[in-house]
Amino acid sequence: MDNYILNLQDKFSEDLGRAGNDYIDISFEIFHKYRLSESDCGQAAVGNILTALELIVKSFIASKNLGCIFKDIPPDLRTLISNPDSIPTFFEWRNYDIDIHSNKYQMLDFRESLECYYIFYPQLKQFLLPHTNFLFRWKDASLGGILPSFNMYEFERIGFAVFTILISLINDDTFPYVWYTLTEDDNAFLADFESKRIERVKLALKQSQQSASELSSDQVGVLIAHDWETFVIECPACKLNGLSEGFCEIAIGKDEDGPNPTLDFFASSFFCEECGLKLYDVEEMRLADMNTIYNRSHELEKWLKERDYVSDWYLDKNG
Ligand SMILES: [Zn+2]
Repeated sequence: MDNYILNLQDKFSEDLGRAGNDYIDISFEIFHKYRLSESDCGQAAVGNILTALELIVKSFIASKNLGCIFKDIPPDLRTLISNPDSIPTFFEWRNYDIDIHSNKYQMLDFRESLECYYIFYPQLKQFLLPHTNFLFRWKDASLGGILPSFNMYEFERIGFAVFTILISLINDDTFPYVWYTLTEDDNAFLADFESKRIERVKLALKQSQQSASELSSDQVGVLIAHDWETFVIECPACKLNGLSEGFCEIAIGKDEDGPNPTLDFFASSFFCEECGLKLYDVEEMRLADMNTIYNRSHELEKWLKERDYVSDWYLDKNG
């Protein structure tokens, strides 16, 4: 019994990875040709890269727990395939419709797969989030629609995000497969992307400071963040308010009174309407000497109430 489910899990993980592997070599070959102006098949590059990524991330998730990659299986079947170590050996699994190779059970989609990836790699979420949000926008269009004409940065950030995720999985000792090994072209691209990032931030700051010097005080608008995914912070170029996108997370520390929750905003990109400064990810914000984590603990109760999980101990402690 144990072996059957674990073998099934291994088979799924391996088959998904192998399918991703089928796409990936050709997709990066086209990717490099397009960015070096040796091919005009940009859409094919994006479609193949994102398909490969989805399959390889699913291979990773399946290797952790087969029950995690299906989103609409009955609870008893999910329990069965999620707990290979706990089901008694005399349990008769053949009574269950376990033909999960059929199309009867739907797997996670692209967005859901990457959201699950961040459960295993929370340390990369702040760094990658604006890039993976960009991928979400174009995955379906790249396969069944028409992509807009990206500028070269937009095209390259797709490759950068995919390589970053692949590298994390290549270096993951708990994941038994290496579905891709970076080539010299890949490493040269990543080095080039990093150096262009530094130049882009320098240029953006210079241009925004120039724009700021031409601003008159009566042109300045009032900026309000309306959700937990945005936060108003000072622009490093014009010193007026700009809007950062990111996400909030609660952390539970401890003090002499017991558990002490805090709420932090993790900034992952920034845009200033006043001077036009745009910083595309947290690394660019760091290059512009910006803080990238902001304490929003004064809004903690509101945040908890909006999520309906204000616990009794929190209200007791603060009420
Ligand atoms: Zn500004």
